[in-house]
Amino acid sequence: MDLQKRTWAEISLSNIEHNYNAIRKSLPEKVKFLGVVKADAYGHGAVSVSRRLCELGADYLAVSCLDEAMELRQNGISMPVLILGHTPSQYTDILIENNITQTVTCYAKAAEYSKKKKKSGGTLKIHIKLDTGMGRLGFLCAGNHFENGVSDVAKSVKMEGLYAEGIFTHFSVSDEPGEDNRKYTLSQFKLFTDVIKALSDLGIQFEIRHCANSGATVNYPETALDMVRPGLLLYGYGDGGKLGLRPVMSLITTVSTIKHYEGGIDISYGRTYTTEGHRRLGVLPVGYADGLLRSLSNRCSFYTPYGMAPQRGKICMDMCMVDLTDLPQVNIDSHIEIFGAHGSLEKLAEQGGTIPYELMCSVSKRVPRVYMG
Ligand SMILES: *Cc1c(COP(=O)(O)O)cnc(C)c1O
Repeated sequence: MDLQKRTWAEISLSNIEHNYNAIRKSLPEKVKFLGVVKADAYGHGAVSVSRRLCELGADYLAVSCLDEAMELRQNGISMPVLILGHTPSQYTDILIENNITQTVTCYAKAAEYSKKKKKSGGTLKIHIKLDTGMGRLGFLCAGNHFENGVSDVAKSVKMEGLYAEGIFTHFSVSDEPGEDNRKYTLSQFKLFTDVIKALSDLGIQFEIRHCANSGATVNYPETALDMVRPGLLLYGYGDGGKLGLRPVMSLITTVSTIKHYEGGIDISYGRTYTTEGHRRLGVLPVGYADGLLRSLSNRCSFYTPYGMAPQRGKICMDMCMVDLTDLPQVNIDSHIEIFGAHGSLEKLAEQGGTIPYELMCSVSKRVPRVYMG
């Protein structure tokens, strides 16, 4: 990294450990822990994060697709892995060979996996997903879909070649305040447990019932059931300060050039910023191709030990400019934190009209991840 000091992401694995322990401590002892490491562990590096979670004693990992699951297996991670999204049934054998658990979201898909299975033998481990109000993947079971939903799940779990280890659902507003959101979340939870009860009356039981994402893990501890399923919390956000979590990623860049301008000079594409008098501007080697959203142009500032540096002009593909006029201590090669340990990712996300998730996931491949702790 010292060879080419451009822009890098420091990933504190000791903060992953801190966050894991803080979340664990807030849960009843027997509750299992599934760490969500989809999207390359929200940009943090799925293999490194998963290895640390494995050492810490996490019970399960979740990814979104087969490629992500295979990356873990190919790097020697043998923990249980759940694919949350769809996998075409032609890959059933690969799922089985690699002991990967597949989400099943409707009767037709269960039938496809089962059919593929009959040819070669073996058993595919599955988790049933219910749509209790997210309006995305899952067996419909709300309102007058209840009986059909229950009977479709019952038929699915009995299919040859499938072993239904778990059942889950996903909340849409468990991280949002307000009475309306509370009501909605609790009604999703009630529907989830009602379906489980109806299945149990038919003699169908599941080893692992889970529904708590980060929002529910913090705000609705009663939803923990057999396992929680947080992503964001692991990376240090989304607890509203309750758990004392620490940011895991810091996106750091350097000052590559400093220019002095008189007043009236236009800066960057589109001439959206014009100097109002003498200005000392730094050029930073970080742009939207690194994940610094162009929509943040002229709307954000970055942390330096001497104060925040306001960003000026359009953010370019590979660089952007900051005003260092009032920060004379910041010089060529000084480090600047785009977000992370000191700055607030949450504030930056708000300024960009987005959420912390998207900014973390946007940090691109060309930004080296530097692991600490
Ligand atoms: C992404 C995801 C999670 C984790 O969500 P967070 O808000 O990051 O905790 C949990 N469950 C499912 C099904 C998901 O898709």
